[in-house]
Amino acid sequence: MKAVVDPKKCTVCGVCAEACPFGAITVGETSVDVSDECTLCGMCVDTCEFGAISLPEAGAGVSTDSAEYSGIWVYAEWRMGTIHKVSHELLSAGRKLADRRGVALCAVVLGHLLDEDLLRELPEYGADRVYVVDHPRLAHFTDESYANALVELVRLKKPEILLAGATSMGRSFIPRVAALLGSGLTADCTDLDISDEGLLLQTRPAFGGNVMATIVCPHRRPQMATVRPKVMRPRKIEGRSGEIERLSVPEECLVGRVEVLEVIPERDQTAKLTEADVIVSGGRGLRKPENFALLEDLAHLVNGAVGASRGAVEEGWIAPSHQVGQTGRTVAPTLYMAVGLSGAIQHVVGMQGSKVIVAVNKDPDAPIFEVANYGIVADLFEFVPALIRRIRQERGEDS
Ligand SMILES: Cc1cc2nc3c(=O)[nH]c(=O)nc-3n(C[C@H](O)[C@H](O)[C@H](O)COP(=O)(O)OP(=O)(O)OC[C@H]3O[C@@H](n4cnc5c(N)ncnc54)[C@H](O)[C@@H]3O)c2cc1C
Ligand code: SF4
Ligand code: SF4
Repeated sequence: MKAVVDPKKCTVCGVCAEACPFGAITVGETSVDVSDECTLCGMCVDTCEFGAISLPEAGAGVSTDSAEYSGIWVYAEWRMGTIHKVSHELLSAGRKLADRRGVALCAVVLGHLLDEDLLRELPEYGADRVYVVDHPRLAHFTDESYANALVELVRLKKPEILLAGATSMGRSFIPRVAALLGSGLTADCTDLDISDEGLLLQTRPAFGGNVMATIVCPHRRPQMATVRPKVMRPRKIEGRSGEIERLSVPEECLVGRVEVLEVIPERDQTAKLTEADVIVSGGRGLRKPENFALLEDLAHLVNGAVGASRGAVEEGWIAPSHQVGQTGRTVAPTLYMAVGLSGAIQHVVGMQGSKVIVAVNKDPDAPIFEVANYGIVADLFEFVPALIRRIRQERGEDS
């Protein structure tokens, strides 16, 4: 988008060109041209005494644009030879949206030396078609090359909706894609739906998690959202097939200013936490850092991982990578034990997808009991050691 000159009013006086700090206006013999350098700063508008130059209205061109766009895309995140699970979750959610809208669901994969089996798995999660760009310059993720490649594909195929995981990769380059396409982006959604008119209803916590806001993007296409891992459930239909289409993008758009020299795999608890089947989380009720050893013992016994509330993290009792919640990780294990944490809404949004929630709290009115399947009103320092003893006894181990 750029400033618009009305040729009927413009006298080609050139005053606006002098006012433009970005050199975006060229004055010719008979007309004035505004280039893509225009940042829509608006400096030129008031300088024109003929009212010939203006900024485009927000939402201008809506009806024409949206009619050209069709289909739902999920960016399938490939990294180090695997597809991130959130992409499977999004494909399953996207399948429902596409069926309701009566359009195709497509997965888009960017990378290099992509494994055919991984690609063939994407239709099993719901994709009708898989668009693939396989290029050596996409072997390692960089914001610029990935964003440029995705933008090229969107301009070529014009999907009406583009979804991606709110992972570190998605959070990094999808906003750039939205900016380059001049569209909106709702980050970190926890729910998605679609209206009869095809508007993507993007729900996410707002105002510190105190309200769940549903956001729409009525004027721009594609409608774009990132969704947190684990808030949607993947559904795999073994043997379901789809078309795989290999595409290329112009070489120049893959040349960026960043070169990846080495990739060092992350070695913290985060991955363990999001993948764990059992999570034992502690809060301020633990009173001091050493007491987390109690939860570690319990987690170890049940082959689980240790999570934490932000309260405990802020106290410095445990590393931030363990934090569950709105500003931490979203988890959905089979069993989530909330021990000595109150159950603030910002914590609950990160764990409410768990299959079974067990809460241990000495306050019977603690909000965590509202989401717990099993609530234990007890002092954690009595209950947790007793539970550990009981598990060991059941297994015939020494207590
Ligand atoms: C923008 C924003 C984002 C946030 N993001 C997150 C987030 O991602 N994750 C998160 O967790 N929080 C988040 N918070 C903070 C959140 O609002 C709460 O402040 C925080 O979760 C409280 O931590 P807590 O439950 O450990 O502490 P408290 O609220 O102090 O609760 C401690 C609980 O322990 C119980 N207790 C105490 N002693 C015992 C005992 N001996 N036995 C049993 N129970 C006991 C108490 O009854 C109490 O319920 C966020 C806040 C904001 C404003
Ligand atoms: S100032 Fe107005 S009239 Fe003059 S060149 Fe710019 S748009 Fe045209
Ligand atoms: S809006 Fe700003 S950047 Fe665009 S042409 Fe006018 S002065 Fe230049």
